[in-house]
Amino acid sequence: MTDRTHDDHLDFRPPGEVLVVGAGLAATQTVAALRERGYDGRVVVLGAEGVAPYDRPPLSKHLLDRPRPTWLADELGADLLTLADEVHLSTPARALSLSGARPQVLTDDGPVTADTLVVASGAHAVRPPGWEAALTLHTAADAERLREALVPGARLVVIGAGWIGAEVAGVAAAAGVEVVVVEANGCPLAAALGSTVGELTAPWYAAAGVRLLTGEHVVEVGTNGVGLADGKLLAADVVLAAVGARPTTDWLAGALPREPDGSLRVDEHHRVVGAPRSVRAVGDVALRRSPRHGWVPGGHWDGALRGPAGLVADLLGSPDEGTDVAPYVFSTQLGHELALFGSPHVDDEVVLRGDPAAAGEGWGALWFRRGSDEVGAILTVDRPRDVGAARRLFTATGLPRLDRTLALDPGRPLREASLV
Ligand SMILES: Cc1cc2nc3c(=O)[nH]c(=O)nc-3n(C[C@H](O)[C@H](O)[C@H](O)COP(=O)(O)OP(=O)(O)OC[C@H]3O[C@@H](n4cnc5c(N)ncnc54)[C@H](O)[C@@H]3O)c2cc1C
Repeated sequence: MTDRTHDDHLDFRPPGEVLVVGAGLAATQTVAALRERGYDGRVVVLGAEGVAPYDRPPLSKHLLDRPRPTWLADELGADLLTLADEVHLSTPARALSLSGARPQVLTDDGPVTADTLVVASGAHAVRPPGWEAALTLHTAADAERLREALVPGARLVVIGAGWIGAEVAGVAAAAGVEVVVVEANGCPLAAALGSTVGELTAPWYAAAGVRLLTGEHVVEVGTNGVGLADGKLLAADVVLAAVGARPTTDWLAGALPREPDGSLRVDEHHRVVGAPRSVRAVGDVALRRSPRHGWVPGGHWDGALRGPAGLVADLLGSPDEGTDVAPYVFSTQLGHELALFGSPHVDDEVVLRGDPAAAGEGWGALWFRRGSDEVGAILTVDRPRDVGAARRLFTATGLPRLDRTLALDPGRPLREASLV
């Protein structure tokens, strides 16, 4: 699927300078991969938050028991601040110009030019207009504000029963906060898992002491609570808007083609489609072409962790070394451990592995491509022994093919169901 030609290989020269915009996970991994491959050119990084790179998943899972950021330098053993030549943590990119021979990024401190630009500016939480009284959770600063507000006995309304809404609801309820979750869809996680599987997570809320309202639309958010479309009022001391995230690409407006949701389409090598090949994007900003899974949106940790290796391999002249990273999402919510590999499609046939109602057994779901033994996605819930098997099934070049009868039997190891 690469469009690199024979002549490209002959002409290939590594970039003399790389500019990375964003100082998060994808940026850190990009710089680490450059150095691991022996790149000794100049690397400059621009960040916007004024803090060293930190990990976001603990912000929700450890909202109340880990008051400090989890630094990526400790987590990954790769310290952006020492690997790059220059790191400007409080110098956001304001605009991009592609009119010259090299990409030029404009900042408040002047322009920065490099041979290659890597856009890794991540995403930000969506807060609909009129919801200014609601908090959001995306940054360490957001987590600090939320933590201060969530004292035992406080009333919290979470808008949205997606990944982050579910995680925060669980940790807050466990700490004595009175929690109501309002979800516009008919069940939690409907966008990620579809309603058949999302519905199976609904009982977790009551079991964790959380009140879940589904099919309810919030029409008003105030300092005292939220108003619903059917006229109900939910009193609250704290309102959290957990209705999704949007790629942070407004600074690129007019310079690069963007999707309606703000994402940048990239090919398998993270080259931005419709832009010069000196411009790459990775992590939450990227909508990546995958030979197996179609267009894979960003928004999940693993894509930002593993995407940069392929980007850097291509950048340094080894395009064939990059692998097609399968989408992978993990979540700890309401006392349950979830791992989702691959991409569920609406027209897949969903079958369950195990009984969600059986206590302590864990269960799973498999999304079979309709009329086929190909599996587009596997979810495991509280079944650690299936996680490794599911991960391995998604390492081959094509989609995994499974024997349905064997795959649905939770008493048999998942790997035994593989047909290849
Ligand atoms: C609370 C929370 C919990 C999560 N939990 C999970 C989970 O359990 N599982 C999972 O798979 N994923 C999870 N995620 C998602 C995961 O953390 C992200 O997918 C990952 O952090 C993306 O990395 P990134 O480097 O692309 O973006 P980011 O980590 O967002 O880093 C981008 C950086 O770029 C900076 N930036 C933005 N604009 C500019 C600019 N103009 N100039 C310079 N810098 C800029 C930002 O300030 C930010 O620091 C969670 C996210 C959140 C917020």
